Amino acid sequence: MAKIIDGKTVSASVKQKVADECAELFKTTGKKPGLAVIIVGDDPASKVYVNNKKKACELVGFLSKEYALPAQTTQQELMELVEKLNNDDEINGILCQLPLPKHLDEKAVIEAISPKKDVDAFHAVNVGKIMIGDYDFLPCTPAGVMELLAYYNIDIEGKECVVLGRSNIVGKPMSMLLLHKNGTVTICHSRTKNLAEVCKRADILVAAVGIAKFVTADMVKENAVVIDVGINRMDNGKLCGDVDFENVQNVASYITPVPGGVGPMTIATLMKNTLTAFKIQNKLA
Ligand code: NDP
Repeated sequence: MAKIIDGKTVSASVKQKVADECAELFKTTGKKPGLAVIIVGDDPASKVYVNNKKKACELVGFLSKEYALPAQTTQQELMELVEKLNNDDEINGILCQLPLPKHLDEKAVIEAISPKKDVDAFHAVNVGKIMIGDYDFLPCTPAGVMELLAYYNIDIEGKECVVLGRSNIVGKPMSMLLLHKNGTVTICHSRTKNLAEVCKRADILVAAVGIAKFVTADMVKENAVVIDVGINRMDNGKLCGDVDFENVQNVASYITPVPGGVGPMTIATLMKNTLTAFKIQNKLA
């Protein structure tokens, strides 16, 4: 039976470290890291995520500002807000909750956020830095996965790593981070042939496809480490990952549950990134 990777415990320890450092820095600077979260429209899932980010900021002692804009907000109004926040010294990190309503240009908004305040690490400058392995911020979800692997002393060097999914926010940066740690990385997507066979080669399998229970036990090598990034809402309202947890746990050596695995790590990394942004902007790092 696989050992459960407990994202709640690991994320609590990451947030505690951030809170301690934040309190120390406050003593010497009299300043707190500030995070601005922009949300446009009233998507219920986005509202939950934004609320969780706000709570995490309170917990670690950050200043948090929420900008809840109506669904009919124009591109110009949104760009003006981003510009204002880029120039606000109290704000060290800016994030715009995605997805945006269809009439808005997400790419333009991401590119308008100053790379120094881009705590989601979505800006092309930060993506480029991740590619060359010289970065200030790591994208929150993949960095959270790396933190989990490190916490459980799961070695990556020389391991066969298979990442299911090639999105810009999860799959691609996830692959890059595993590569930086000397994993041998294969990226799979919807056109991959013999997907089950490729998955079965993995010592470390990361699923980020967005399809409930996509990874079944027959796709998993005995004693593989299985990381489930997926968050899927079932008809009964419950959350479910991309992995068939019930059956895969009998094959894997380690597995993340959903909820309580990767999800909490995403917010913990966001807090870490905001602290890093604060330190850089105040020349403390
Ligand atoms: P995307 O929809 O952007 O990407 C999904 C990827 O899966 C694509 O690369 C797609 O391939 C691939 N894919 C889809 N169907 C198949 C298939 N049948 N076989 C093989 N590959 C397939 O999703 P995200 O990366 O944004 O998110 C993935 C999951 O992770 C979602 O459930 C999301 O909710 C969750 N998530 C969780 C977070 C957390 O904090 N835990 C944070 C972010 C996301 P192709 O490129 O060919 O279309």
